[in-house]
Amino acid sequence: MSLQSKKTFAMVMYDICRPDLCSPDEGKCAAAAACTHKVMQQIDGAFEPPVIFQDRCLACWDCIEACPLDAVAVKKIS
Ligand code: SF4
Ligand code: SF4
Repeated sequence: MSLQSKKTFAMVMYDICRPDLCSPDEGKCAAAAACTHKVMQQIDGAFEPPVIFQDRCLACWDCIEACPLDAVAVKKIS
């Protein structure tokens, strides 16, 4: 349990995320590339969905703006 009472972070919706559709040539996640804080990373390589290290997310939403398929959402926990 976090000491913070509230936390907001980005979350990948894996039912929507399709690296083969958003980047057919390279399979590169534009949302992960937009996360300059390296909180979101395509750790399994090209054509694989990214992961978000949510405890480090700064809630800047650059990834949400960058994803062409709207596969990244704001998640709030309280
Ligand atoms: S999060 Fe968006 S940009 Fe990244 S691989 Fe999924 S669909 Fe593509
Ligand atoms: S909201 Fe910002 S810090 Fe968090 S994963 Fe997206 S781009 Fe990275």
